[in-house]
Amino acid sequence: MSEMKPSDVAAAEDSSEEQDWNAAKTFFDSLKSNKPRPPKPRFAVSIAVSSRTLFNMVAERKIYEEEGVEKYVAFQVEHENEPLKPGPAFPFVKALMNVNSRLRELYPDSEELFDIVLMTNNHAQVGVRLINSINHYDLTIERFCMTGGKSPIGYLEAYMTNLYLSKDSDKVTEAIEAGIAAATVFMPEKESELSDTQLRVAFDGDAVLFSDESEIIVKQHGLDTFFEHEKHFENQPLAQGPLKCFLEALGKLQRKFYSKNERLNCPIRTFLVTARSAASSGARVLKTLRSWGLEIDEALFLAGAPKGPLLQKIQPHIFFDDQMFHIEGAKDLGTIAAHVPYGIGQKYHKGKLIEQPAKKE
Ligand SMILES: [Mg+2]
Repeated sequence: MSEMKPSDVAAAEDSSEEQDWNAAKTFFDSLKSNKPRPPKPRFAVSIAVSSRTLFNMVAERKIYEEEGVEKYVAFQVEHENEPLKPGPAFPFVKALMNVNSRLRELYPDSEELFDIVLMTNNHAQVGVRLINSINHYDLTIERFCMTGGKSPIGYLEAYMTNLYLSKDSDKVTEAIEAGIAAATVFMPEKESELSDTQLRVAFDGDAVLFSDESEIIVKQHGLDTFFEHEKHFENQPLAQGPLKCFLEALGKLQRKFYSKNERLNCPIRTFLVTARSAASSGARVLKTLRSWGLEIDEALFLAGAPKGPLLQKIQPHIFFDDQMFHIEGAKDLGTIAAHVPYGIGQKYHKGKLIEQPAKKE
């Protein structure tokens, strides 16, 4: 029996989608543009960013909240030739573009690239300022999703989103519940110099890459029980957490550099920054990653030490954590931190149970 190529299988699965994409490709090629053609979501690593994470729109938001939507839109239209200032996800997006240009050099025809989608519930009139700003900074963002205030989840699914970054924690929570890696990004308190040749991404472990199953033990039974538990289950991999798929997507692109002998010169570097202690609870984490076939370039076990000072040394373009006090510690020292609202940690602050507001009916 002759084996079907993966592309044949995919075509058979969804031939009408394939035809649509072929038509789009023909149209794009006929434009004779020097701009790179956006890749298909099926092959790309799709990153959806909201306008307020890509750009700093704090002042504009204030007008919206204090003076209403009409004044806000009028202000945006009046200033549409004035580029917006970079927001917290801007350096990350810039770094993704650098990785893309390295990938295009090595694999001119491959669609395994980062694809950035701008998600916004802004009024269409504001779109002009967004487009002008994107062009001003020479960003390649051709896909816009103007949701008009509707939930972005359906669009995130349609774009096969690998990561969604927003300022709105309710939308982020909704995305995580739908199984999409997502985080709320914060502007750091001070600026720091970030690499423009290497994308650097730092992840917390429990309740970010992994589920919160071990975090529950810490919170409910304390550290000693946790250490015993982790020793006992050392060979049982942890369940996956909300950001595991994004690490996997980064790994897929990293391997494209490795197979061209570019491991030492790879423009993507990943870090695990966990409060776990190496000797007493580190093995399970490393063995879990190994069981998934995933590599992390550097694993840092802090044994409860604050994460901020170490992150200052790593200088990631983004750092993901489920606990707000780690986010605060990171951003105070100049790290772009992104909160993953998932797991038992949301009910605690610095180890203390916080009162939960009554659930809305
Ligand atoms: Mg955690």
